Amino acid sequence: MARYGMVIDIAKCSGCYNCFLACKDEHCGHDYPGYSAAQPMMGQFWMNIVEKERGQYPKVKLAYIPVPCMHCEDAPCVKSARDGAVYRRPDGIVIIDPEKAVGQQQVVSACPYGVIYWNEEKKLPQKCSLCAHLLDEGWKEPRCVEMCPTGALAFGDLDDPDSEVSRLIASGATEALHPEYGQKESVTYIGLPKKFVAGTVVFGDTDECAGGATVTLAGNGKQMMVKANFFGDFEFEGLAGNTDYTVKIEARGYEPKELPVRTTADVYLGVITL
Ligand code: SF4
Ligand code: SF4
Repeated sequence: MARYGMVIDIAKCSGCYNCFLACKDEHCGHDYPGYSAAQPMMGQFWMNIVEKERGQYPKVKLAYIPVPCMHCEDAPCVKSARDGAVYRRPDGIVIIDPEKAVGQQQVVSACPYGVIYWNEEKKLPQKCSLCAHLLDEGWKEPRCVEMCPTGALAFGDLDDPDSEVSRLIASGATEALHPEYGQKESVTYIGLPKKFVAGTVVFGDTDECAGGATVTLAGNGKQMMVKANFFGDFEFEGLAGNTDYTVKIEARGYEPKELPVRTTADVYLGVITL
């Protein structure tokens, strides 16, 4: 039997919302007895796209983070439910039984990821089922994965070393959205936004962009080096948060400049004049 998992590559996600709409198309107005009750049109987002704005003007970036249920191995939602109303199948899919879970609102607050929604009309907690009703019919992937045009959502058997998800996990590039929860999530991520340090270098004597200036960032046991581009812009991505770094800028014929930086947030150092 397969053990299902998903790997979400943030760098590939364009924020098109196709996965969100595919989920709505599959689940709104459709009951799948034993798997899930119909998802309401409004107020529930079984595949939620979290938009994360980073940096400050003029250096601003936007990341889209698709967030379904993580189908955790150590799932607090399962532990919080009475009468086995929430359970983990042998293939790893966590299901909220749409009949047994009626009235069990405590299940909603048990999930630290906030991916369980309360249906007030039906008195029912609801969430992503990984389209288990389709997988059990022989589908190879849930609707969200099928509809993603960029390949940002990889889905497959975690026990098959040749599956795409297993290869991505073996590469060492995946991580949980919130590893601090310690829930052994079956949905993991590549390229989750970390912190960046950026700036713009100009030559003080000519007031021109310092394209080609060497910029070195050191700290956290690492050293990275880039060249400022034609516009004098430079950037270091994927940095640890709350960490002290030093940025050093050098160009032939000019005094080098050193700046201390702490990554409590993404940092734009502004215009740096040599
Ligand atoms: S993400 Fe939340 S709802 Fe999904 S299995 Fe984990 S604890 Fe349960
Ligand atoms: S369909 Fe794919 S690219 Fe579009 S929002 Fe979803 S994960 Fe991102």
